[in-house]
Parts: sequence; C-alpha cells; structure tokens
Amino acid sequence: MEGFGFQVKVKRTNRKKSASITLVGEIVKITVPKFMSDYTVRELIKKRTSWINIKLKEQSLKPPIIKKNYISGELFPYLGKNFKLKVINGERASIKLVGGYLVVKLQKNEINIKNSAKFLLQSWYKKHAEDQLIKKTNHFSKIVGVTPKSISIKNYKSRWGSCSIDGELSYNWRIILAPHHIVDYVVVHELCHLLEHNHSPRYWQHVENYFPEWKNSRNWLRKNYYIGSL
Ligand SMILES: [Zn+2]
Repeated sequence: MEGFGFQVKVKRTNRKKSASITLVGEIVKITVPKFMSDYTVRELIKKRTSWINIKLKEQSLKPPIIKKNYISGELFPYLGKNFKLKVINGERASIKLVGGYLVVKLQKNEINIKNSAKFLLQSWYKKHAEDQLIKKTNHFSKIVGVTPKSISIKNYKSRWGSCSIDGELSYNWRIILAPHHIVDYVVVHELCHLLEHNHSPRYWQHVENYFPEWKNSRNWLRKNYYIGSL
C-alpha cells in the first residue's frame, strides 16, 4: 500500500475480526479481516501514523547488531579503517596486520576456529588499544595540564572510559575501533574530568577549550555506539 511516509504491507486474513499493526524491521505490517476495504485500512493507518513514526524512530536508534562469525572476508574496523580478516593455518596461533589484512593463523587441528579467532582478535585489539591510549593520554595530558595517576584498559560493556576521583583513567578497548579523532575526544573527555569531576557547564568549557570539535565526536559515538558490542 502506497502513499505513506513508510512501507506498508497489508495482510488479509479470515482469522481476524479486527486490525492489528506491527513493525517488522522498517516495514509496517497491518493484518486486517479479509473483507475490510482499502479505504478503511488507509484510515486505520492514518490514525496510527504518529504512533508508527515514534516506533520507527525508536527502531532507527537501536544499534545494528555486530554479529561476527570470525571468518575470512569479514571486515573489522581499527582506528576508523576497515581491515579484512583472513583466517589461515599456521604452525602456531598468531595474529598480524599485513598489507590491509588482519591475518589470523590457527593450528590445523584447531577445533573451535571461531572462538580462537575471536580470542586472537580481541587480544590484538586490546594490545593496540593500550599502546594507542597510553600514547594519546600522554600527549593530551600535557595539553590539558593534568597528570593521571594510572591508565588502564577495561572490558566495559556500556561506557567508553572513566576517571576515578583520585585520577585513575580507564578506557574501553573497543574505542580503538573508532577513528583517531573520536579516540582523541574520549581521551580529552576523561582528562578533563581531572579538572572537573562532573558534567557541569564548567566541565564542558574545559572540553571546548582543548577539543573544540567535541560535539561532532560525541554525536559520532552516539550514532555508532554499536561498535561497543564487538
Ligand atoms: Zn564524562
């Protein structure tokens, strides 16, 4: 059925006495009694349009699920660039970035290929996250004029970083999937908490001073937060 700001699929059935509307992905599915007229169906949809739009909006904000199978050909982002995974056999299990490929070597007799590849990839990310985040934190701490007590890499599920009251910084290793300037923002964000341990206007003023494009980065993270589900 055409003429709405969204896709509509009408299903007519003998088994229904009244209409029901559900969302299947981005498609609005309306199930109606077999002999209901098109006109009535249209009127029903019109009446529910604001509800449909709210639901569609809610849905678009849901993160696409990163479901990786850890097989050759899959793309894995690192600092904003995509690298193709290549799973091959080797003498020992290892992982290396070679000419744009993330090459995972697994022993021939490896039984659980997916889990082993996943484990190697995650350790690779964690190691690189640590190197990059220490480097970036040292760089930006001079600019902000603060000295964190310690820097550590964590396996957070729903945050990018944190700063304890006594100055211990922690970062989610998955932030390393984002482009450089996004990682920089997270670093400056946490460092500014050493000046102000809250999200007050004064805090954001510090962020603004040291990282003027912070709003774009924050929006990027809001839109792409599914990278945190790897
Ligand atoms: Zn914060």
